[in-house]
Amino acid sequence: MLESVVQDDVTSAMVYCFGAGQAEGSAAMRELLGGKGANLAEMSSLDLPVPPGFTITTDVCAAFFDNNHQYPNELQDQVCAALGQVEGLVGRQFGNPTNPLLVSVRSGSRTSMPGMMDTVLNLGLNDETIEGLVNSSGDERFAYDSYRRFIQIYSDVVLGVSHDFFEAILAEFKDENDYVLDTELTASDWREIIVAYKQRVEAELGHSFPQDVFDQLWGAVGAVFGSWKNTRAKTYRRLHGIPEDWGTAVNIQAMVFGNMGEASATGVAFTRNPSTGNKEFYGEYLINAQGEDVVAGIRTPQPLTKEARVEMGTDRPSMEEAMPIVFKELVEVFNVLETHYRDMQDIEFTVEKGKLWMLQTRSGKRTAKAALKIAVDMVSEKLIAPNDALLRLDPEAFDQLLHPSLDPTAERNVIAKGLPASPGAASGQVVFTADEAESVSVDGTKVILVRTETSPEDIHGMHAAQAILTGRGGMTSHAAVVARGMGRPCVSGAGALHINQEKNLFTVGKVDIKKGDVITVDGTTGEVILGEIPTVQPELSGDFALIMEWADAARCLKVRTNAETPADVKVARDFGAEGVGLCRTEHMFFDTERISTVREMILAEEQEGRIAALEKILPMQRRDFIELFEIMSGFPVTIRLLDPPLHEFLPKTEEGIADVARISGMDPDRVRRRSSQLYEFNPMLGHRGCRLGITYPEIYEMQTRAIVEAVVEVEARTGVKSKPEIMVPLVAIEKELEVLRQLVLNVISHVEEERGCKLDILIGTMIELPRAALQASNIAQYAEFFSFGTNDLTQTVFGISRDDSTQFLGDYVRQGILAEDPFVSLDHTGVGELIKIAIERGRRTRPNIKLGICGEHGGDPKSVEFCHSVGLDYVSCSPYRVPIARLAAAQAVLREQVG
Ligand code: ADP
Ligand code: MG
Ligand code: MG
Repeated sequence: MLESVVQDDVTSAMVYCFGAGQAEGSAAMRELLGGKGANLAEMSSLDLPVPPGFTITTDVCAAFFDNNHQYPNELQDQVCAALGQVEGLVGRQFGNPTNPLLVSVRSGSRTSMPGMMDTVLNLGLNDETIEGLVNSSGDERFAYDSYRRFIQIYSDVVLGVSHDFFEAILAEFKDENDYVLDTELTASDWREIIVAYKQRVEAELGHSFPQDVFDQLWGAVGAVFGSWKNTRAKTYRRLHGIPEDWGTAVNIQAMVFGNMGEASATGVAFTRNPSTGNKEFYGEYLINAQGEDVVAGIRTPQPLTKEARVEMGTDRPSMEEAMPIVFKELVEVFNVLETHYRDMQDIEFTVEKGKLWMLQTRSGKRTAKAALKIAVDMVSEKLIAPNDALLRLDPEAFDQLLHPSLDPTAERNVIAKGLPASPGAASGQVVFTADEAESVSVDGTKVILVRTETSPEDIHGMHAAQAILTGRGGMTSHAAVVARGMGRPCVSGAGALHINQEKNLFTVGKVDIKKGDVITVDGTTGEVILGEIPTVQPELSGDFALIMEWADAARCLKVRTNAETPADVKVARDFGAEGVGLCRTEHMFFDTERISTVREMILAEEQEGRIAALEKILPMQRRDFIELFEIMSGFPVTIRLLDPPLHEFLPKTEEGIADVARISGMDPDRVRRRSSQLYEFNPMLGHRGCRLGITYPEIYEMQTRAIVEAVVEVEARTGVKSKPEIMVPLVAIEKELEVLRQLVLNVISHVEEERGCKLDILIGTMIELPRAALQASNIAQYAEFFSFGTNDLTQTVFGISRDDSTQFLGDYVRQGILAEDPFVSLDHTGVGELIKIAIERGRRTRPNIKLGICGEHGGDPKSVEFCHSVGLDYVSCSPYRVPIARLAAAQAVLREQVG
């Protein structure tokens, strides 16, 4: 029976015990106990076999940092009491020379940060207790192997004596004795190694390896707390948005041993396949091994199930075959955990002489594809409801599913094959270090990070790379797990690669691949391919359609797309876009066929010349709109009249000027003169947007005519009534819109008269300047809709040019001055405030005014949630983001309902 180790005041509990079918903590207490501690407690309460132990809370971690790395006074007593309980349950005593209790000291924060912080195993061994371990286990070799592991980990993690020293001693010893594998070393070999290890520690530190087991314990606890602040943990937190002040808990747990011979093992497993989502037990184990051996990539682990073994084509036995009874027990545990947590679990276990022990469970990281399948399957298994499924998916992760994969018909020069560790494919230049990956990719160059194996130090480089390729390690190696979490394609364990990092090259067979050479990595097949391979559109599964159906049923916001080319509009329509929210007509001017006519129009110094050129452009614009209206058949299409400053269309170089002069038959001097006339110091704030319509009304007249005639023509041809919405950009002053609205209305009624029809066309404006937002009630007199152009609105509210912001916004985010780049995720407080003002004032004048957003933010899940909360009618985003926005819009509604 567990007794609470806290005597009087319950709120001062710093330590929570678990074991023997009971626990003081629970899964709900992850803030205080960390994810690992909370779930160890929960598993213990579920009566699963968990070695007994206790958790020191994250509050103690915070106190430790606040108090100059001193522990709170009461901690020592609480830890001793808890340790006493563990001793009672295990029947061994900490530091006892005949029957010693050994413990692990494990980190564990609120959300899992795999491999980022430190863990010490086999703690409690010294020159006396080792004899007790030898005698009580009856296995000398095991005992000395455990002791040398302990010295190695403890020295590295707590004493700061690098692990490399010990690796070097071991390698030299193996060399001298002609050993290849660690398993060939005998008990007396390990004894010799231990002597050498201890000498090394003394030489490095000037004092001997700590023999007092309590010194060992407190040293390890401090090191685990301290590891919260190591560089890799900090990087991980920055990349994943985890607050610095959470801190880690420390779990102290009785050791169980997977390295006690052939009936012992250690392994990691997922209750479903984390790559595909298939409902199959999936994982790896190693016989006669301990702790990190499985993920370290030193020995290649074996699969859990027979099926997986057969598929891999190895004859080294699966756990199902080698340990059938324990395997069955493990399967039962999997089922208990999945039903209990109602989610796919990632599990760590150890088998000690045929007895199964559970060491960890958490919700498993998975690919987007697996997440989708698992969510849908769990709905049909009645574990969760459709709305739970929607809330579980990360809209951002859909990106992985929607993007193109390698063209299956393209020729592939496959140079090596490894494990398909994380799906998707990418091409890029080879780099060999994480720092290189980061520096080379700064300008947008695509890189592939190639490593023998990755370690937590590499995460910044993995993030910067398009894909990761390793020479060693299994499906649950560090590289594989982290890549799947980040959505990066990864091929691991490509054994044929000989990586020579010093020479900046790797060799496969006779081929040398140097730094900067382009390769393609296909994480779905495990192939490594020379050169770049073209890609094709993904085929979306029935699961995807089902999720989208549920999302559509839940959401209030409509989702449109920002697109103008027929190909993009088609993609967006296929992804479920309910209209075009922004058709940027200038993109239609760049077409090689028409750019010279556009230039002729711009270069004309008189209105007549411009009109003549515009007459040539009219039929081309009309054709564009006909195509769009046909694809969007009856869905609204918002068309923005010409927006950019005219000189953007003119050639920039002397060569270009000569070309234009030749084609147009104009004097090059005139081209040059007109170009310099149009030159602006600050084009973003220059002669653009509706200002063009004011000075060159004939341009907007031509565009309006093209739109209106296209409507008439599509209806005549197909019977479909198109729904164009004509949008005037960059309005700041109500009068601007009043004038231009009249211009548009005039053209519409002209065409109506000519064709003898009556059309229903909305006229509105973008709200992208602070003045427009403030003047919304006046502007709304002339606008049937507002579309928030949050790109320009963010630029003008912050006074930051988006194109120049990369120079410093990174520092702003790193220093915490801004939580996020406001061009990526909408700034709720400043830009958002203006949006709210504009909505309120716009509705005051025109209660049924249509409201949408057409900035890049329309595809950012957090911004979509904001748009829902302020009551917009729709968001509009780039074609590939349409499904992301559909899901995000549904989640916004569901989260509101949850509260
Ligand atoms: P991480 O958070 O990096 O996964 P863990 O605390 O889970 O670190 O420890 C890593 C591994 O060490 C575990 O997967 C397990 O194999 C081993 N380990 C930890 N505690 C024990 C224990 N009490 N007995 C046996 N092995 C343990
Ligand atoms: Mg680990
Ligand atoms: Mg672990």
